[in-house]
Amino acid sequence: MTRTLSILGVTGSVGQSTMQVIEELRAQGRELPVEAVTAATRVDLLADACRRLRPKFAAIANPALLGEAREALVGLDIEVGAGPAALDEAGARPADWVMSAIVGAAGLSPTMAAVRRGGHVALANKECLVCAGPLFIEAAKAHGATLLPVDSEHNAIFQVLTHPERVERLTLTASGGPFRTWSREQMAQATPAQACAHPMWNMGRKISVDSATLMNKGLELIEASYLFGFKSEFIDVIVHPQSTIHSLVHYIDGSVLAQLGSPDMRIPIAYALTWPDRAHVSTSRLDLAKLAQLTFEAPDPVRFPALRLARAALDRGASATTALSAANEVAVEAFLEGRIRFLDICRTVEEALSHLEGAEAGLLAKLPSSFDEVRAVDQAARRAARLVAGNTAAA
Ligand code: NAD
Ligand code: MG
Repeated sequence: MTRTLSILGVTGSVGQSTMQVIEELRAQGRELPVEAVTAATRVDLLADACRRLRPKFAAIANPALLGEAREALVGLDIEVGAGPAALDEAGARPADWVMSAIVGAAGLSPTMAAVRRGGHVALANKECLVCAGPLFIEAAKAHGATLLPVDSEHNAIFQVLTHPERVERLTLTASGGPFRTWSREQMAQATPAQACAHPMWNMGRKISVDSATLMNKGLELIEASYLFGFKSEFIDVIVHPQSTIHSLVHYIDGSVLAQLGSPDMRIPIAYALTWPDRAHVSTSRLDLAKLAQLTFEAPDPVRFPALRLARAALDRGASATTALSAANEVAVEAFLEGRIRFLDICRTVEEALSHLEGAEAGLLAKLPSSFDEVRAVDQAARRAARLVAGNTAAA
């Protein structure tokens, strides 16, 4: 069966793993032509992806790099575009399956372009769901798009969701990140390099920092709530340092189904790409004897306040999750650029949200009814977070 694919964010960690899976399946004789790929700034990696995948269209987010991208792709017979409209075009072009792997709210517009066309949308980007949740899900329903979760926890739930109407609870597992056993004092001194050195997963810098604060799990709690339709009190988070059980579904008869596997993103990517079938992929196999133990512990709310912030935002409603995600993007960037310290990340998010509650309470109280309203909340939260981060940096 031929399946046409597009990859939004082909140069990132998920994008590169997606490319590996595609190449492996092509080597088995599957026809997987690629329609479009996108990148932010890495022309070299974009060109490499184009040589390997031979898409019809390549988009670079930074318009200043259009000339360079054209030059790098000379002779490949690939149309090249740049800027936000080109990213949207990449999502809108006809493909049966679109991988949404741009990081942050920047992924929302091109992913929505894919959603509006219907078809299968493999969702790695969690921020666009956290940012636009209910609107995004409604749009997918209205346009007949099938959302295939790629985030490993949500993919795990999706794989074992045999009786969606008979579920009692969900449990999301968390590795605990690089600072699981660090004291608060040590965390206060943590550098970006230490925060990005994840013990189990090799990921982009933003999600690595989110894993270190546990905001990643907070965003995933929101993602699970919107994707599967459960309120926050029905979703638990448990720290599981081996990252072998990717999440669990508890049914009303007391059965608990889980999906296990090595921490290798090619597994959920391949599942989403071949769903409802499966294919042979040379991902690392689970060796239970070698693993010997699976352990679990409750997340520490004092060292990791992000989970509390995410739950509060989810309970407050859709605009609050938009604001949380946007403020977190600003805070993580400030940390990665050395302007604020590690523990300031969650503090910045919390203060930005309370600033918004005070100054623009109407904004958070209202459920956004359009993507323009979502963007307005996103922008207001970014402004508030920049203000807080700026004051923190100056202090
Ligand atoms: P990454 O930083 O490695 O890659 C991000 C991609 O987005 C790159 O292709 C980059 O060029 C593109 N990009 C960045 N900013 C952009 C902008 N402003 N406009 C257009 N394109 C832009 O990130 P990643 O680790 O691959 O994560 C991608 C998404 O998948 C994130 O939302 C993350 O939360 C989610 N995710 C990642 C993993 C993982 O293992 N890496 C696991 C689960 C979910
Ligand atoms: Mg995850």
